[in-house]
Amino acid sequence: MTISKHIANHIRDIPRSGIRDFFEIVQSMKDVISLGIGEPDFHTPWRIREAAIYSLERGHTGYTSNLGLPRLRECIAEYVAKHFAVKYDAKTEIIVTVGVSEALDLALRALVNPGDEVLYHEPCYVSYSPSVVMAHGVPVAVPTHPADNFRMTAEELAKHITPKSKVLMMNFPCNPTGATQTREELEKIAKLCVAHDLIVLTDEIYSELTYDGASHFSIAALPGMKDRCVFLHGFSKAFAMTGFRIGYACAPAALTEAMMKVHQYAILCANTMAQDAAIEALESGENDVQMMRKEYEARRNYIVRSLNDMGLPCFKPLGAFYVFPDIRSTGMTSREFSLGLLEKKQVACVPGPAFGVSGEGHIRCSYATGLDKIKIAMERMAEFVAENRK
Ligand code: PLP
Repeated sequence: MTISKHIANHIRDIPRSGIRDFFEIVQSMKDVISLGIGEPDFHTPWRIREAAIYSLERGHTGYTSNLGLPRLRECIAEYVAKHFAVKYDAKTEIIVTVGVSEALDLALRALVNPGDEVLYHEPCYVSYSPSVVMAHGVPVAVPTHPADNFRMTAEELAKHITPKSKVLMMNFPCNPTGATQTREELEKIAKLCVAHDLIVLTDEIYSELTYDGASHFSIAALPGMKDRCVFLHGFSKAFAMTGFRIGYACAPAALTEAMMKVHQYAILCANTMAQDAAIEALESGENDVQMMRKEYEARRNYIVRSLNDMGLPCFKPLGAFYVFPDIRSTGMTSREFSLGLLEKKQVACVPGPAFGVSGEGHIRCSYATGLDKIKIAMERMAEFVAENRK
């Protein structure tokens, strides 16, 4: 019997992540410096880890409420009100999830009917298009361009809206480009969303990691937008808690209730110890976040200068921990560049098209790795570029 023919068509047709394929090659090699990982190199701050241990010691080993621990939801409500100027009711408008990954999936499954179109800017996080397909929606990529420092413009978005458009997914600061949005552009985008009755999923997972004094602004905070936004956030990046698998979605009560149904039947509740640790993160983690943010900023300054010096144009992103240099002057495709750099210089970066076709001509370098390693990686990359420039 061949089991393959029984696999659901829409799942079979989804391509494997380009990042995964690439990193299988990386793992088979020795002494590679990886700028490929989208994961903080810091350990979770000790107090937060201790809170998870203490949670176990106290015997917090059972399920929590489907929506998450009430105290955690209160902390989230306070945090979002303080940092994003949007007020959510802890009892009815917040759901604690298994990372932003689950929050995105819940929102899509709660909103999308088969055939509904879901817009998102591209290049974007690898899961966006597959998540839409898994929810039986139709992904519609809105390209962003190097000339705009990869901002999504309302003008480009407008070109892709059709009568079937239902949802807009956004992630700023952006993985993989580091792009951020201005308040003015968000206002224009919000106007379009109101005019076309679009629901906005706003993935703000990198929002604490902004640089040069830039402050983050959420589209959910614009007048009238809270009612049509799902605000998605989590602990993986700013608090270096990827392995805890903890995040949350904030949305109007009826939509939270719909997401809760999916969550209740698919997951039940987020991990209990991780929820206790997340309370500690929100109550006392601010200084740790600032310490890590400063370190990322120093690394960003170094990596952006090095890339431009070696002739790979790269704008200075104001957020996240990625840079997305333009490698077209080498005459290579993104994949040729990344494979060549890996084979000849043992430095791993991710080819831009892993984040959508509009990423061609670029590579993603993560600076969530120590400055000592970044310095060596930049030296090796400069040699590679010099040896291969046409
Ligand atoms: N959204 C974006 C833009 C990401 O870059 C990532 C992880 O890299 C996620 C969501 C997933 O985050 P989590 O670990 O909270 O599931």
